[in-house]
Amino acid sequence: MQHATPPSAYPVRPVVTTFAPYSPGLSLQEIRKAYQLSHVIKLASNENPLGASPLVQQSIAREAPVVFRYPRSGNPELIHELAKALGVDPARLIAGNGSDELIDLLLRVVGLPGENNVVLLEPSFSIYRMQAELSGLDVRRVPLNSDFSFPWRALEQNMDERTAFVFLTNPDNPSGHATSARRILRFAENLPEQALLVLDEAYIDFAEDPDSLSPLKHMEETDNLVLLRTFSKLYGLAGLRLGYGIMPPWLAELVQRIKLPFSVNILAEKAGIAALRDTVFRSMTRETVLDQRRELASRLTDLGCCVYPSQANFLMFQPPMDAQTLHRRLLEKGIIVRPLNSYGLSEYLRVSIGREDENLAFLDALQRIVADESEKTADSARNG
Ligand SMILES: *Cc1c(COP(=O)(O)O)cnc(C)c1O
Repeated sequence: MQHATPPSAYPVRPVVTTFAPYSPGLSLQEIRKAYQLSHVIKLASNENPLGASPLVQQSIAREAPVVFRYPRSGNPELIHELAKALGVDPARLIAGNGSDELIDLLLRVVGLPGENNVVLLEPSFSIYRMQAELSGLDVRRVPLNSDFSFPWRALEQNMDERTAFVFLTNPDNPSGHATSARRILRFAENLPEQALLVLDEAYIDFAEDPDSLSPLKHMEETDNLVLLRTFSKLYGLAGLRLGYGIMPPWLAELVQRIKLPFSVNILAEKAGIAALRDTVFRSMTRETVLDQRRELASRLTDLGCCVYPSQANFLMFQPPMDAQTLHRRLLEKGIIVRPLNSYGLSEYLRVSIGREDENLAFLDALQRIVADESEKTADSARNG
């Protein structure tokens, strides 16, 4: 990208001048064009392997004529349906333009710039750090344990009387590691009194036993817990942008107060309602992901990869060759996986669980590339 330097007269915020934007997975279009491919398989952004639910598609078509209307502020119809589906008080619920919007809003409601801090795991979803920095909050990064489990003691040692938020992702991205609801609730009990725990559950529905991982059922007993969920993964609505948060009513009220009134558009709201009703599509998605995750993990292990146990719709693995080279060679064959350089994990790759045919094509390509590479290594050893 070309850098256009702003004329020095303008008072651009220093945090913006030095800001590095989010680095997303590569898009199908980019790869098709760069490598002149007709067929590309994208396993880079943890999107739904089955696409969008047919009921959602019908609902969007049906609602198309009303797009000239503004949505209702606060999306009351969607909030009502969510409250019913989750069994939570609607006063605790807020819908957002993806859970990304809610992360941003939370960090603008609580925490005084230059005074408070946010405790994050390193590596973790980069949006937490980016929005915290934009809000002028001090960011404290606590390294994950070497097996990618959560370092509870180190997290506690980094919190103090100025901590506004602690962010955790469960199951975690990019590792897929998951921790129990009981452990999370115990941690929440030990938070300093002014701190909130934000638990990002973007991947909770792909866990073997989501109920044992999510403290959702205990929301009424806690006063410092925020759960974030999204329609981007299990519900297949990544492109429409819809997420929601479950939080103490006082916080929901403040977030609602500062939120731009129509950030959740009218089609996203209707699609969300249709997606909630389509239990068939959801169970098919879950079944596909759980079956294929097991299969893919075992095949990758057979191919010499070190695969991390995952409760999410992706697998993180260390390939038996240079990860960057493998990423590039896969792209040449029309398969997009996620390099993890932006997470500081350049020896690892993350692959989203696709449909069986996509996963087989990925495994086939990987097998060929690894075989080629070990032949090359053997050749260069022979030739000294
Ligand atoms: C995918 C993902 C989300 C979802 O974000 P949306 O803005 O709802 O699309 C949130 N958190 C994490 C960790 C994710 O990986």
